[in-house]
Amino acid sequence: MTRKLFWEDMYLREFTARVERNEGDAVVLDQTAFNPRGGGLVSDTGTVQGARVVEVTKEGEEILHRIEPPTTFKPGDLVSGTLDWERRHRIMRMHTTAHILSSVVNRETGALITGNQISPEESRVDFNLESFDKEKMSAYIDSVNKAASRGLDVRTYFMKRDEAMAVPGLVKLAKAAPPTLDVLRIVEIGDVDTQADGGVHVKNTSEIGTVVGLRTENKGKSNRRMYFTVR
Ligand SMILES: [Zn+2]
Repeated sequence: MTRKLFWEDMYLREFTARVERNEGDAVVLDQTAFNPRGGGLVSDTGTVQGARVVEVTKEGEEILHRIEPPTTFKPGDLVSGTLDWERRHRIMRMHTTAHILSSVVNRETGALITGNQISPEESRVDFNLESFDKEKMSAYIDSVNKAASRGLDVRTYFMKRDEAMAVPGLVKLAKAAPPTLDVLRIVEIGDVDTQADGGVHVKNTSEIGTVVGLRTENKGKSNRRMYFTVR
């Protein structure tokens, strides 16, 4: 089981760890600040002991760091890890934005998210909406910018699954979590959004900057995709 340092401190950029084992060109550490791919987020990149980390994935309770070959790590080695921080911080800004956006659209239309992809350059969220256009998108983006500029604190905490299931709004998302989890991580963005979520976020929405709507796409009869970025 890899200790998730990114849950304890989402601003940790450097850390030391022990090598547990190699798996192909991937290395498993006893703890890591690298957030793995998942929940729509692309993974962090960076270096472990100077070697390039090209992708990070989660398998069960282990986190695998795929290293640009050749890998020379041995179990027991003490190594230092460094994140590509600018990229990670953009992912955090984009991710918190996606939560605010989904809350805004849900409040206005009742639509739910059917998919998302959070990347450093541009991100997208899919909604189960039938009616959607450029004007609506810019109205939603305006609301997101208004909310973000209020400087809302982002809090994370853990909740027993049973308790989380009893909170309206968390329930539908909690159901999507693996049934083996009896404790869920909750992310609360001021008074705007509260969700069960495993990803990395900024600690205050003032770090988001300006959200810009890029374009929309129709992905089927009742599926609308919105692309955005942060500047
Ligand atoms: Zn999320």
